[in-house]
Amino acid sequence: MASRGRLVVVEDDPGIAGVVDLYLRRDGFEVVVAGDGEQGLAAARVAGTVLAVVDIGLPGGVDGLEVCRRLQADPPVPVVLLTARDDELDRVLGLELGADDYITKPFSPRELVARVHAVLRRAARPATSAAVLVAGGVEVDTGRREARVAGSPVALTAREWELLAFLARNLGLALSRDQILEGAWGPGWYGDERTVDVHVRQLRAKLGDALPLTTVRGLGYRLG
Ligand code: CA
Repeated sequence: MASRGRLVVVEDDPGIAGVVDLYLRRDGFEVVVAGDGEQGLAAARVAGTVLAVVDIGLPGGVDGLEVCRRLQADPPVPVVLLTARDDELDRVLGLELGADDYITKPFSPRELVARVHAVLRRAARPATSAAVLVAGGVEVDTGRREARVAGSPVALTAREWELLAFLARNLGLALSRDQILEGAWGPGWYGDERTVDVHVRQLRAKLGDALPLTTVRGLGYRLG
């Protein structure tokens, strides 16, 4: 079977790492396991890495949250975070790290494999209709997955990028928060309508006046 791509698992618990490794290999991925954050970052930076599964609690100076943060750019690597407890998940959502999905331990390996597939499908989608869309002073380059203002790229997290690309593909349309949640990030994603507001706020902060994004009262948002 041809490899589905290189996938990095950053997990210090050998039992969990072993099971995850087994299921992902069986599913056709080439898997590299790293036991701490530094090794995980180095492994994820190797060209051809399609995704990283990252445990939050890791030994050493670089925890899973930091790994996730550093994998958001140059170029971004999609991340599925493993969280030990629900309160850890609350912390993750509060930080808005831009992780692509989360799964709380204990989890079924099949569920993890399904999440990995969903994230990869989402990451691949914009490339099918590559184009440079223009919204006000912002260029939305769906081929390069890059936003530019006055010709200069602006660093966005994976999740911010997906929101911007979805809004740009629906230029001029008033969209509800539900439509945005589902359209930008897919039906399986963990999040609620506040997530949309948080990411809109981040986009506005990063793109400033160049972004012609209007709040539509009682509904959601409209770009352009
Ligand atoms: Ca751990």
